[in-house]
Amino acid sequence: MSNTENTPAPNFIRTLIQEELAAGQYEQIVTRFPPEPNGYLHIGHAKSICLNFGLAEQFDGGCNLRFDDTNPEKESQEYIDSIKADVEWLGFQWAGNIHFTSDYFDQLYGYAVELIKSGKAYVCELNAEQMREYRGSLTEAGKDSPFRDRSVEENLDLFERMRAGEFDDGAKVLRAKIDMSAPNINLRDPILYRIRRAHHHQTGDKWCIYPSYDFAHGQSDAIEGVTHSICTLEFEDHRPLYNWFIENLPVPSQPKQIEFSRLNLNYTVTSKRKLKQLVDEGHVAGWDDPRMPTLAGLRRRGYTPASLRKFCDMAGVTRSDGVVDVAMLYHALRADLEENAPRAMCVLNPIKVTITNYPEDQVEEFTVPSHPANEAMGERTLPFSRTLLIDAEDFMEDAPKKFFRLTQGKEVRLRNSYVIKCEDVVKDEQGEVVELLCTYDPETLGKNPEGRKVKGVIHWVSEPHAVPAEVRLYENLFTDPNPDSNKEVDFLEYVNPESLAVTTGYCEPGLLTAAPEDRFQFERVGYFCADRFDHGKDDKLVFNKTVGLKDSWAKIQKKG
Ligand code: ATP
Ligand code: MG
Repeated sequence: MSNTENTPAPNFIRTLIQEELAAGQYEQIVTRFPPEPNGYLHIGHAKSICLNFGLAEQFDGGCNLRFDDTNPEKESQEYIDSIKADVEWLGFQWAGNIHFTSDYFDQLYGYAVELIKSGKAYVCELNAEQMREYRGSLTEAGKDSPFRDRSVEENLDLFERMRAGEFDDGAKVLRAKIDMSAPNINLRDPILYRIRRAHHHQTGDKWCIYPSYDFAHGQSDAIEGVTHSICTLEFEDHRPLYNWFIENLPVPSQPKQIEFSRLNLNYTVTSKRKLKQLVDEGHVAGWDDPRMPTLAGLRRRGYTPASLRKFCDMAGVTRSDGVVDVAMLYHALRADLEENAPRAMCVLNPIKVTITNYPEDQVEEFTVPSHPANEAMGERTLPFSRTLLIDAEDFMEDAPKKFFRLTQGKEVRLRNSYVIKCEDVVKDEQGEVVELLCTYDPETLGKNPEGRKVKGVIHWVSEPHAVPAEVRLYENLFTDPNPDSNKEVDFLEYVNPESLAVTTGYCEPGLLTAAPEDRFQFERVGYFCADRFDHGKDDKLVFNKTVGLKDSWAKIQKKG
């Protein structure tokens, strides 16, 4: 990772564009991000967004946002709105207005008519099953449709009547006349238009025929003057068809399709269909559930746009498929939060500490830095009193020698405060330790104790000043590294039943002023983010665990 913060890593597409620009092939690049508004964007889309918008930024070009809206039944305004919000949140701005493939329905219809007039398209009446049969297979050539030799006049008439709504849904299609024996099946007279009486979110009931993805996509690129139509590898086999349309139609520009490999992450599902299923069947609370790999979910979890952009850059742009370790995503996130999240103290699993030699009614206020390495982040105030809360895990009776936290007869430093010594424990009837009786050394505020070493540091809050918060602890949504790829097992079987635990945390009082989406490092616990929607409602504090402190990815890198 030698590249600095703002210079994206080199990749084959960048290099190609650099060469083309140097050779004067065009003045300015235009890319596009073309989501279908049939779901929320996920981490895989982030990669495509960072690539397309990133190239436009780097080369002073433009990137269009185009909604690829040719499947009205599955699409909705909610998805359109969420996609726009996510792209902006990631920090990108599309060129000019938002585009819709449906903006070009008239023009696309005109192109289809052009193809018919030049004898390169025909209306076909084979049903779906016959169509499959006629198409042949990878090893077998297809057969010509019996409708292939219709006259131009008849095709024009039928296509016009398809548009006018004279035929039932699915009764006829318009097909390109290319080559039924082409080795590439995409060239075996692909479908250009289908009859579907579906209400469209943009065009209403104007159309009862809709163009296919293949017919709409390249022509929309050409209409918009897109120079580089960057898509994922599964479209590689569609490229000859993409080019066939561009060559055989009077389009205003000649875009070029370039493929790169999809981003796959372990422990994560990035199929929109499956993400929708998780939402629809209530396995998660919604598209923006903090366990979801959607941008809305990642945002709510506490991810920063910078960390996602960094991650996409680290993942790289190549043509080889692979699975990225989710630990790398966590690493990019931690690197950002380590530097930019102010510190706070919050005790999740409290046990009471009474400082027996501290005056009953005394309260001190310590002013401490918000970030140990960044003065510019300012200071915060911590009240200290006779009763404190520490994490129960930071105390152990009969502790082994290497236990550097609190144990009877030993000392520990309270973070940003005094050294205390545990003198005695109070147990309940069941023998559980419920309170620790400690003494403090007043000479140890901001200095080491005289003549002895105290190794451990633990976090704490003053009990009377602590503010309770709802703390939502998240784990991976799936228990299996590849929930998606086992053909025998439904991915839902791998949903982690322990992916969410809700508890109460006791926070330093400064957190009362936290705003939704404020991020913190709860010292020694992890990174947390005030919930975007629930924090502050009814005066309740709600923090989501973003990620823990331990970085397994960095460790793996060091070893390797
Ligand atoms: P579908 O088309 O099945 O709804 P999709 O994930 O391809 O799913 P689109 O809305 O078509 O969704 O995707 C928009 C853009 O994002 C496309 O250019 C697509 O190639 C890209 N994209 C989608 N998933 C990934 C991924 N995992 N990695 C990289 N790019 C992706
Ligand atoms: Mg797609």
